[in-house]
Amino acid sequence: MSQLDDLYRRVIMDHYKTPRNRGTMEDGSVTVNLNNPTCGDRISLQLQIADGIVKDARFTGEGCSISMSSASMMTDAVKGKRTEEALELAEKFSALMKGEDVSFDEYEDLEALSGVNKFPARIKCATLAWNALRKGVEHGHGQHEGIEQ
Ligand code: ZN
Repeated sequence: MSQLDDLYRRVIMDHYKTPRNRGTMEDGSVTVNLNNPTCGDRISLQLQIADGIVKDARFTGEGCSISMSSASMMTDAVKGKRTEEALELAEKFSALMKGEDVSFDEYEDLEALSGVNKFPARIKCATLAWNALRKGVEHGHGQHEGIEQ
């Protein structure tokens, strides 16, 4: 295992064991519940969007280290961003999962998930939180449910 792989693994485990933004909020305007039945990952993402800005993001759920660390990183990365910027980050993350060479100046921890693209079965684990974000931003207010196919 290379030193970079080792570093990446440590970043992932740190987010898994000490998740950022885990919990719920009372004034969330959007809730998205998304399942990834292939692995058994579930996420409930709450967003507070106002004036075109993601003011706050929280998540609850359960699943593998990839899905939960990705949710931790995603919520941290998009907080305070304009919704367009959040969607651009989601696009960049999709590119990373396709094996493209992407760097995240906005939030470097995301690069730790780059190794996932070598394991097609785990890509859905990593993109679950980002797809929940997309759904939440695009559909706006209210509660949304979905299953990853
Ligand atoms: Zn998973």
